[in-house]
This record gives sequence, C-alpha cells and structure tokens, in this order.
Amino acid sequence: MPPSRGTCERVGMMSDFERAAQAVREDRLWQRHMDMAKLGGTPRGGVNRQALSAEDAAARNLLMSWAAARGFSVFTDVIGNLFVRREGSDAGAKPILSGSHMDSQPTGGRFDGMYGVLAAFEALEALEDAGVRTKRPVEAVAWTNEEGSRFQPGAMGSAVFAGHNALDAMLAVKDWKGVVLRDALAETLAAAPAPRRGDTPGFALDGYVEAHIEQGPRLEDARTTIGVVTGIQGSRRFMVEILGDEAHAGTTPRAARKDAFVAAVAIAGAMQDATRDADDTLRFTIGRVDVLPGSPNTVPGRVSFTIDMRHPSMEVLEAHETKLRAIVASKAAPCTATIERLTSVAPTVFDPGVIGLVRDAAQRQGFSNMDMPSGAGHDAMHIAALCPAGMVFVPCERGVSHNEIENATPSDLAAGTRVLVEALVRLANR
Ligand SMILES: [Zn+2]
Repeated sequence: MPPSRGTCERVGMMSDFERAAQAVREDRLWQRHMDMAKLGGTPRGGVNRQALSAEDAAARNLLMSWAAARGFSVFTDVIGNLFVRREGSDAGAKPILSGSHMDSQPTGGRFDGMYGVLAAFEALEALEDAGVRTKRPVEAVAWTNEEGSRFQPGAMGSAVFAGHNALDAMLAVKDWKGVVLRDALAETLAAAPAPRRGDTPGFALDGYVEAHIEQGPRLEDARTTIGVVTGIQGSRRFMVEILGDEAHAGTTPRAARKDAFVAAVAIAGAMQDATRDADDTLRFTIGRVDVLPGSPNTVPGRVSFTIDMRHPSMEVLEAHETKLRAIVASKAAPCTATIERLTSVAPTVFDPGVIGLVRDAAQRQGFSNMDMPSGAGHDAMHIAALCPAGMVFVPCERGVSHNEIENATPSDLAAGTRVLVEALVRLANR
C-alpha cells in the first residue's frame, strides 16, 4: 500500500486498516465518555468509581449493554476482568486484546483508564461499521482494580491475568473498612452478571495495545497528538532510618549532639544533588519524613524517610541505588543510618514491532507524534510479559491526572483511537 493518506480515492481501494481507522466516530466516542462519567460523577466534574463498588458495577453493565447492541459477546474471568469479543475469521486464533480500566481514584477524572476501554470498544464498533473482517478475534478488556486505591495492590486484574500476583492472595485482600475482595467481587459480578470463562487466570494472547491519556505534560508542551510509548519506567522504593541520641534542646551544646534530623538533612540534600540528571528523566521523591520523638524542645533521636525513585533504565536505577547507599554510609556521622530497599519494579520495554505499528499508524494518518516512556504504571506492564505489547498516549490538559479536573479533547481522543484501530487491525491480520 502507498504510505500516505488520500492516495486511495475510492473506498474499494482502501485497505482494511484504513477503512477501520476512518470509521472511528469522534462524537460517539466522546458521548460514551460523558455517559460513563455520570456513573460515580462528582460535583466538581470528576468521578469516584472505585474498584468493585456499585459504580463499578454500573459501568460494567453500561459497557455490556453497548456490547449487546452490537452483537459482541462478553465474558469475565476469575478476578472479574471484563472482556468484549468480536470474532475473527479464524475462530481458533488467539485474540488481539486492547483495553485499560474503568475504576478510578476517589477524586479521579473522566479519562484515566476509561479512555483505554472506550477506545478499544470504539475500535470494535469501527471494525463493525467498516465491515472489516479480521483474521484473529479482537477483544476489548476492562481490567479489575487498576488504581489500587480501595484494594492494594493496583493493576491487580492484569497482574493476576499474567500470573504475577497469586489469585488466592488477591481474593483475600481487605479494604480499609475490612471488606474482603472476594466478597466485593462476588457482589459486583452479581450486580453486573456476565458468563465466566475459565477457572484459572489468563489465556493466550497474540498482541496487546493499550490507549491512555498521558497523565503528564510532555505531549501538550510539544504540541504533539500521539505519544508512541516505548516502555514504562521502573521504580524502586526505599526506607532510610537514622539513629542519634535524644537530648535536651536547651542544655546540650550542638557540638555534643547526635541530632538525627541534622544527619537526615545532610543525607537528603546529598541525595537530591546526586540524582539530578541533565535531561530530567530520573524521578526522585522523598514523600514522607517521620521525626521522633516529635517534641519541640528535644533533639531528635530518630528520623526515617521514604524514597521513590523511577527511571526507564534498569542500569540507571542500579547505578543510583549504589550512590544512595554510599551517601547513607558517608553522611550520617555522628549518627548511624541504614537504607533498606522495600520494592523494586523492573522497567517494561515494549515490543519493537508494536511500537513500530503505532508509530507508522500515527505517521500514515498525519498525526504529529513522538516516542516517549510512560511515567506512570499501567496494566500493559503486566501484559507485556505475555505477548507483543505497546501503548498509545494522547495529551491531557496541563498533564493533570488523578484529579477531578482531568481533561482531554474529543479530537485527541479520536486521533488516538484511529491510531489504535490501525495497529489492532494490522496485528489481527498478520
Ligand atoms: Zn489509568
């Protein structure tokens, strides 16, 4: 096929992926977002649709009603992930999957997660409207509990699907009110019933593409429509503990003190300097500091603080962990200090073939685009372990997300969906 849009004058000459991309309807996609935003809608224009709540069940029912209207089949799995399936010509072929999540933060926005589900559903509708028969089935998915605000950890549905988290352990998780996930899931599925497929998590996939708002400012700042996501940065969390001696604030000369907060400031300052990089890619955050005993007239004897560090490269994370450890060892005196690594999530590197399909689709359709890593975690980080995977980002206003004022434009959402559809068709027909 010629690479540029508009070369084919007649519909009959257009390829399947071109016809499908053109069948994406911006108005329908936007309206579906507005309809979903009513479920758990907040007075400030956001949504509170936490995982396995009544609002989550309502969203599931709405999606299933749309699927039924188009003749798509639906099913759930053992952790409540909801799938909408459009058959391919090869009934036995592994499906191409696309989707994201419908749960939100307690003060969440209308697009985080929901866009990926609705873009995938719009893709199925566009295929239907364009009369495109793909070889492999194409399925849209709404993963259970991506946000992890009510039940931890987040990205639970995709992690269970991928075998990265054990099903039984996840079913036993409790929310802050003591509700067990197993019960909340049963209640949700009773309120939004769908046939269940399989008694164990996961099934074979042939490819996965997830659309999402960027949740950062880079696309908007660069006036670019499509983010071709190359991977998801890895993260490491640490706890630093500093031990000094408590002493009277009025009587103890400063030279004689072992002030744990003074040591903490020296360590934290040195860490801030050591983690600055020229292109501002490394993320370093001290998010919580505890100073004990917490009395205004006692020299602190003990300080602990958390570190959250992220970067797309494992080597860079490793090198900086070494630096952090050296700083803790050298800057604590006269106090003593330890640093403990609490968690380590490896960076996700997406499949070069899928990255190329997303980039080619954006280019062919005439959308400005740039390669970028994802700063936030997504369900795709788990599914990338199972099959060739990638993501499509679209801009969100000022990069604001996890906020009720989160916003995106109808045309950007549609552009991302057109790119998504083309990538899905090419995967489904290869
Ligand atoms: Zn999300």
